[in-house]
Amino acid sequence: MNKKAYYGEFGGQYVAESLMNTLEELDAAFEDAIRDPKFMEQYHDYLRQYVGRETPLYYAKRLSEAYGTKIYLKREDLNHTGAHKINNVIGQILLAKRMGKTKVIAETGAGQHGVATATGAALFDMECTVYMGKEDIERQKLNVLRMEMLGASVVSVESGSNTLKDATNEAIRTWAKTAEDTFYVIGSAVGPYPYPKMVKEFQSVISREAKRQHMEIEGRNPDVVMACVGGGSNSIGMFAEFIGEPEVALIGVEAAGLGIETGKHASAMALGAPGVLHGMRSYLLQDENGNVQLAHSISAGLDYPGVGPEHAYLRDTGRASYVSVTDAEAMDALVELCRLEGIIPAIESAHALAYAKKKAKEMTMEQSMVLCLSGRGDKDVNTISDYLAGKGYLN
Ligand SMILES: *Cc1c(COP(=O)(O)O)cnc(C)c1O
Repeated sequence: MNKKAYYGEFGGQYVAESLMNTLEELDAAFEDAIRDPKFMEQYHDYLRQYVGRETPLYYAKRLSEAYGTKIYLKREDLNHTGAHKINNVIGQILLAKRMGKTKVIAETGAGQHGVATATGAALFDMECTVYMGKEDIERQKLNVLRMEMLGASVVSVESGSNTLKDATNEAIRTWAKTAEDTFYVIGSAVGPYPYPKMVKEFQSVISREAKRQHMEIEGRNPDVVMACVGGGSNSIGMFAEFIGEPEVALIGVEAAGLGIETGKHASAMALGAPGVLHGMRSYLLQDENGNVQLAHSISAGLDYPGVGPEHAYLRDTGRASYVSVTDAEAMDALVELCRLEGIIPAIESAHALAYAKKKAKEMTMEQSMVLCLSGRGDKDVNTISDYLAGKGYLN
């Protein structure tokens, strides 16, 4: 067993033998790159000039007064392409270039990671193929169009449930055959090692900035740091610099969908059990026979049956806690942020806001909370308007 590939009992490299060397090469190239000041300079240069970093740590005054504690929003919604995903894509595609690859592939569910990868591929002149479930292609037409405008080919995956889980399996299978010239860009802190480590590194810019920004304003660390959890990339990036600061409470917020008691949810931490999916061992939603179950959330970006292995470890060691909020709670919080601050958040991010409201009840105006606003809500306006029109979200 390759010990370094594990976070406690989680993580690992559960892939076909033919991919083991590829993962080994990737790990070596990554470790070499992040120790090369030229590579990191280039990465930060693109984050500044292209992505638009650093993002503000915004004191949400009216929201704070409404909820009862100081709330700072880390504005990842202001990044180019509208969410945190681009931070990771820039890092991985620069690494692909450095390794001499000419093609990139990616999986996507809602299409957000597909759009970010197609964007990076255009920027760095790489051929780009995105695997997407047939069902998701129909549900996310606008993002399919965006990817095509950016020059990517979108491949429809027709197997299993025709969604993200199946698209990911297809991307891994394709990669095993094409790794010579192809780099697989994974969009969350999941997959076989070293992906969870790479994604954390490239998303840690979120907490490096936020920690310094909060220190400049408040002269100390925040009491609570919070983020929503799909696969766990914006949250691990938001937690990274605070994991070693024991006075800071770390809270990850999963989707409870229609309510965890209904079975229609995406709360892998609350109700999942350890198992293997997409090359890693972690908490997964599965039935008693170990078959992976479909996740449900009003937010397409939280609709993943698993969670990154480092989160599983942070949960089991007690360093971070994980909670979940329902579709309805998230939508109420979303509308509240629109009306109080003039910010339309992604439905994913609204899950963290909904829990912030609950958590703030135990806090005072002398304390503070930093919340990762992972993305903007433009992509969600149809879902939001259907919901507000009283159609709800039935699935
Ligand atoms: C994809 C996405 C998420 C969920 O993914 P993580 O890897 O858990 O961060 C959250 N928010 C937004 C805006 C997203 O696009």
